[in-house]
Amino acid sequence: MSSSATAETRSFDAEVHQLLKLMVNALYSNREIFLRELISNASDASDKLRFEALTDDALKGCDDDLGIRIEFDAAAGTLTIHDRGIGMNREEVIENLGTIARSGTRRFLEGLSGDQAKDAQLIGQFGVGFYSAFVVAKQIQVETRRANEPASNGVRWVSEGENEYQIETIDRAEQGTSITLSLSDEHKDLLDRWTLRRIIRHYSNHIAFPIKLIELGDDTEDDRGDASDEPVNESKALWARPRSELKDEDYQAFYQSLSNDLQPPLQWAHHHVEGNQRYSLLLYLPAQAPFDLLINRDTVEGLKLYIQRVFIMDAAEQLLPRYLRFMRGVVDSADLPLNVSREILQDSPLLKKIRAAVVKRSLDLIEKVTEAGGESWRQFYDAFGGILKEGVIEDFEQRERIAGLLRFASSQTEGDDLTSLEAYISRMPEDQDTIWYLTADSFKVAKNSPHLESFKARGIEVLLLTDRIDEWLTGHLQTYQGKSLKSVAKGQLDLGERPEPSSEEAQLAERIKAALADRVGEVRPSQRLTESPACIVADEHGLSVQMQKLMRQAGQTLPDSTPDLDINLKHPLIERMAAEPDTERFAALAELIMDQALLAEGGELADPASYVQRVNALLLDALGAAQPNVD
Ligand code: ADP
Ligand code: MG
Repeated sequence: MSSSATAETRSFDAEVHQLLKLMVNALYSNREIFLRELISNASDASDKLRFEALTDDALKGCDDDLGIRIEFDAAAGTLTIHDRGIGMNREEVIENLGTIARSGTRRFLEGLSGDQAKDAQLIGQFGVGFYSAFVVAKQIQVETRRANEPASNGVRWVSEGENEYQIETIDRAEQGTSITLSLSDEHKDLLDRWTLRRIIRHYSNHIAFPIKLIELGDDTEDDRGDASDEPVNESKALWARPRSELKDEDYQAFYQSLSNDLQPPLQWAHHHVEGNQRYSLLLYLPAQAPFDLLINRDTVEGLKLYIQRVFIMDAAEQLLPRYLRFMRGVVDSADLPLNVSREILQDSPLLKKIRAAVVKRSLDLIEKVTEAGGESWRQFYDAFGGILKEGVIEDFEQRERIAGLLRFASSQTEGDDLTSLEAYISRMPEDQDTIWYLTADSFKVAKNSPHLESFKARGIEVLLLTDRIDEWLTGHLQTYQGKSLKSVAKGQLDLGERPEPSSEEAQLAERIKAALADRVGEVRPSQRLTESPACIVADEHGLSVQMQKLMRQAGQTLPDSTPDLDINLKHPLIERMAAEPDTERFAALAELIMDQALLAEGGELADPASYVQRVNALLLDALGAAQPNVD
């Protein structure tokens, strides 16, 4: 088969074309990023080869001298990145370079906002991929051969980054990939040894393969001796080095290359574990969440798993529970078998043990940041506190420990101060054995809730929980340090002496219940209230008003609930009702206090228009006594 017979011109995916345009605009002021992307692809391809060589005999020895060679030729205006990695066959080239089905560039495209500053931030956060090279190149040529295929199955791909590319089959003796960029005139200044060196050191210093930089067509090469044989980067597995050799800057730079996060990490922990199991563990606590962390629970890379320095996989789930999915880092095991499939590895008891250790060390790290408090802790908690709370729900074993790391507003905290459960307990009076809380939509609703009135009057502190997840959290955290947690809005309160209601009081409650018919369960004279006329009380084991609202928002249909209503016999409105002889007016007032109680709870009225009508009718009635003067 002659190569001309295999040559064809193909169109890019419609999406690719769109992306190329956006890419060039968005990345223009960050043009240097492209080199990081191409080096990262070369490194990935080398990792893949090494991994496949573990189990594929045909690849034995192919992974002996992996490395990345970067050649530049200022006179010709070209820059070439060579790797000896896994390479691609024809289908793979079409799939990987002709579509963006599975590349990081897709997420980049989806995340673009059109705002220069924001987009630049985004570029920092994850790989923007192969196409970023079109920011500096007027033409890109890729020559590649899959490592386990014959030399005659090489592929050449060429494109100007417009609508189409050419592809043909070629002979290629070398395994792996060479990517040659013909730089546009305005970017030829990049073709300079010191510039390239600086860019490589800046973005790719911790790539685990040696990167060599070679100048072509340079007569002075001889004078430099063999300087170009020295790798430009460190190319050493940082996590495998002793802690004593490493400085803060080393850890921070490695974090950057690992995460693409421009902000330095808040904290890190580095362990070399010996004994039954030998492994190295390097964990980072980031300062900010990648933009899609909260939205998408599945796209986070988390920890990288290595076995004896060989990259095995991005293994968020095998190494970390979801509620720690914001952690970053590397686990390198000396004991896990190298030559097993990823699937088998997932069930390995050794890996499970490592996972348990990773969880423990991660919580240690978070505890350290929490205990130190201050700005670092606040940054951590604002970014990841909500995710950490999932742990109380998901991880029974660590429940108490995680709960101990949480912080809440309370009826006694000021401003945006938060309190721990432990601090709450330390403030409890001797005879209090319950941790009281209230869940609500917002801090304001919580702070002004009628449910707090009698607690305030008695000086009992109440935690104010306003995260969406807090409803679920309290459903799973029934006790902490032996104290039970209870909602102030649920069930009967036992806050001390309660005089038996008089027969008139009991009668009033009965009348209100009759007037509200099936809207209400029990109506009780209350000790919850000092200022409001009434409040809603959920069943001790039932759903709170807040939970019902969240579930409706999530699209669930709930049966009509009939909550109990507590009434405040000392409130003038209730006293006025007791004296109301007219049945219709009495019923209107009963509906009114019921609706108000729901509103005060942040709940939603089933029929808000009727409520407004009722209030207006009563208002007009009341104002009727004082007719304005109309002349
Ligand atoms: P990503 O690296 O996020 O997958 P890229 O746009 O950087 O996205 O690359 C797209 C795909 O092209 C890669 O996933 C890989 O399959 C393939 N590829 C790119 N560069 C190389 C290379 N040097 N060697 C082998 N395959 C490569
Ligand atoms: Mg890439």
